[in-house]
Parts: sequence; structure tokens; C-alpha cells
Amino acid sequence: MEYISTRSDRRVSAAQAIAEGLSPDGGLYFPETLPVFDGEALSALEGMDYAGRAVEVLSRFLDGFSREELSDYVGRAYAVPKFPKETAPVVSLAGGPHILELFRGPTCAFKDFALQLLPFLLTASLRKTGAQETAVILVATSGDTGKAALDGFANVDGTKICVFYPDGGTSDIQRLQMVTQTGENVMVFAAAGNFDDAQNGVKAIFTDRAFGAAMKEKGFLLSSANSINWGRLAPQIAYYVSAYCDLRARGALAEGQKMNVAVPTGNFGNILAAYLAKLCGLPVGKLICASNRNNVLTDFLTTGVYDRNRPFYQTASPSMDILISSNLERLLYLLTGRNHARVKGYMDALARDGVYTVEEDVRGKLRAEFACGCADDSQTAEEIKSVYKRTGYLCDPHTAVAYRVYEQYIAATGDMAPTVIAATASPFKFADSVLAALGKTPEGDHFQRLKQLSAAAGQPVPEALASLANRPIRFSRVLVPGDMKNAVAAWLTE
Ligand SMILES: *Cc1c(COP(=O)(O)O)cnc(C)c1O
Repeated sequence: MEYISTRSDRRVSAAQAIAEGLSPDGGLYFPETLPVFDGEALSALEGMDYAGRAVEVLSRFLDGFSREELSDYVGRAYAVPKFPKETAPVVSLAGGPHILELFRGPTCAFKDFALQLLPFLLTASLRKTGAQETAVILVATSGDTGKAALDGFANVDGTKICVFYPDGGTSDIQRLQMVTQTGENVMVFAAAGNFDDAQNGVKAIFTDRAFGAAMKEKGFLLSSANSINWGRLAPQIAYYVSAYCDLRARGALAEGQKMNVAVPTGNFGNILAAYLAKLCGLPVGKLICASNRNNVLTDFLTTGVYDRNRPFYQTASPSMDILISSNLERLLYLLTGRNHARVKGYMDALARDGVYTVEEDVRGKLRAEFACGCADDSQTAEEIKSVYKRTGYLCDPHTAVAYRVYEQYIAATGDMAPTVIAATASPFKFADSVLAALGKTPEGDHFQRLKQLSAAAGQPVPEALASLANRPIRFSRVLVPGDMKNAVAAWLTE
């Protein structure tokens, strides 16, 4: 299976797609054909543990990677104690949805699933494509990607990693996780502006050919760990397959019965993975796309007009504070029947005018597959409190947005199909918001607040967050976006 760019007929191997991250034409790589998981294949997966399921899924997507190789990578990426023995547990709430807990990894957010594995996939891809250079991973983060990428790549031979996070745009814990990162090969900058500014700054570095060539001369190959990289998306498909298998195994789904999936969405990577699982044959019904007050996707899915010309809000769910949802490009590619010219037209219009409109054929397909909704911060806080009161389950603000929108969807449609809600972060990562939602006044410093939440919720503080208290701050520089390129060059050649 080859990979093809969403903006031209450029074809590459899986290894090349992962090594390059973004296609030189600005497009994103997408599998030329999708594998099929029929009922029998899914039944076989039911008897496997998470690693076994992930290897099965990945091996169907990554031609040129042997099963042994993938088993080795998956085994190491998801090993205890980085992840618990139950890697992606599904918690079934009484009379309600099934919560797919994706935050049990080393940085307490779902991005660990992709970013613990990506260093293995990327370094292998570079070997397979014959690259001799040191891979330089540039990451723009709205909070969780940065830390997950730093943790995955720290001290990985043959790589260096530089993360840009929006100054003041993350939670305190998220920022501390990043600026205390250890490792010889890591760099972290705050960037003035919001996430989109940081992401555009990184994209500008990638598409600056002269800069890329100059770095290559010095022995560096620029690469991306953002969810534009196929190596980020493929591992995410596995946990939807795994959740289905768990629900089948415990009798929560009849044979062939579909499950709906609700996902708190920002860059559209996680929900796209669920849609891809569906296209591969996983019995999935509606995909419920949940946004916070930055509801550009709610408007798009409702009207067919994608318009980023709107105020940007900082919310209690900062990892979804995004106005340019990069992975939507892959969905548009599919829904236009893999029409490069149309996708390029939309993306050019977005870059030029900040807005594009899809035609009725695409709009019809969007409506058929996706439901959507949004929740602002006060609704999110209400939801955290009410879910906790009703079920004893404590959601982080991102997960609470999805829970709220799931309930809106049921109220609007009466669709009572079993539903999996993707729980994307630990509530402890957003302790202040969660405490406030529960009606408690946050007290003392960050670490006292973690303890306060622990006492209020009767759950231990995740060790990865508790241990931050003892770590020195290593990075404190703030850049304006125009300086990002020079800062990268200076760091690489210092
Ligand atoms: C990144 C992130 C999201 C958004 O996921 P996308 O794949 O960008 O849509 C939601 N919740 C949390 C906690 C995240 O870290």
C-alpha cells in the first residue's frame, strides 16, 4: 500500500510518508487503499491484549514494516510502567456511555498512544529511506502534544526535538510538564500568540525549502510530530478497534451492532482515526464531533462553510483551542472522492481568505457520518459536576465537552446506540478547572491543588504529575513567531 498526498498525485511508501511528515506540496499523506477488518478478523482481535491488537491494526497500514518489528516497537512503547497493564481501559458507566480512558500513559493525555510509538516508527522510517541525517522534530502544541512528544523523543538516538507552545495558552501543569523536560536533545520555547500562530510558524519553517536545504547541509532533516504526520494517526485507529473488542467481550454490543463514538475535537486527528476505523469495517454508527467555544467545526459540519475569521477564545479545554483543524484536509480528500484539485482549492482559499465552502455532495456525506455540537466553559464545568454527582466519574474538561455534546445529541435525536466517549486527558492535568467545577476554591500552589483534587475525588494523583514538583525549570524563552526559524537554526548549530 502506498501513500498519496491530498494535494497532488505524489506517491510514497509508508516509511517515506512518516519520514517526511508533510508532503512537499503542502498536502497530507493518506493511504491509497484502506485495509478491511471483517467480522472474523475482529473476533480474532477480541482474544488479544492491547499490544496484540495494535500490532494487527498497524501491520495492515504500514507496508514495509514487519510484524516482528512492529511487535517490538509496540511492546516497548506501551510497556508497564509507562502505561498500566490495561493500556486503554473502557469504563462502562451504569446506564450510560462507555468511557475509553486514553490518559493512562506517561503524560496523562491520549497523545501518548501515538507519541510513545512515533520515535520508533520515525527512526525506522529514516533508516528504511536511507536518510543519514539527524531527525529534527518540530512541534507546535496547544499543550498536550508538546509534552507527549518530548517524553517520547527525549534521548532517542538520531533525533532532536523542539517544541513551541502558546505563551499563556496552556494550563500551569501542562507548561510545567514541558519546561521541566529532561534530555540532551530537547528544546522548548514559548511563542507569543495562540496555537494557530505557533502552528503556522512551524508550517512556515517546513515549507521554506531554502531553510530545509541549509539544515540538510548541516546534517539535519526537519520532521513533524504533529498529527499531520501519518505516524501519529495510525496508532490512534487501534484504540477504537480495541474499545469495540472490549465491549463485544463484555457483552455490551451484540454481533454487528454499531457503537457511536463521541470525541472532543481540535485538530480533527482523533475523530478522524475513529472514522478510518469505521471505513475499515469497524461497526461504528455516528461520529459525534464535540467542540468547545472555538466551535469552527460545529459550524462547518452544520453549514458546510469553514470560516476561521472569528475570535479565538482561550478556554478551560485548551487542547481544543484551535481554529485551523489540519486533519480535516484528510476527511475532505475522502469525501470529495479523493479529488486533489478540490482539496487544494479549499486549502488555498483557507490560506488566502480564511474561509471555504464545500459543495452539497460533500455536505451530504458529512451529515450522514457526523453529528456535532459545542459546549462553552460554564456548560463544561456544569457537566463535570453533574457527571460526577450522577455517576461518580470524574472527567477532565475536554472529556466533559464530549460528554455534554453526547447528551445534546441524544436529546436531539433519541439515538440510544451504545456510545464510546473518548476520555482524552486526566482530570489532574486541569486540576484548577476541575476543582472549580466541583465547587471547591483551588488553594495553594499547583501541587497542593493536585492533592486537593485527590482528596475531593478520592483518587491518587498520577505519579507523573506529582513528581513535577521536584523538577527544575530548564526552558523559559519567549519568541515572537517571526523569530521561530532563527531560534531553531541557532539551537541546531550552537
Ligand atoms: C489534542 C487533544 C484534543 C484534540 O484532539 P485532536 O486530535 O486534535 O482533535 C482533545 N483533548 C485533549 C486532552 C487533547 O490533548
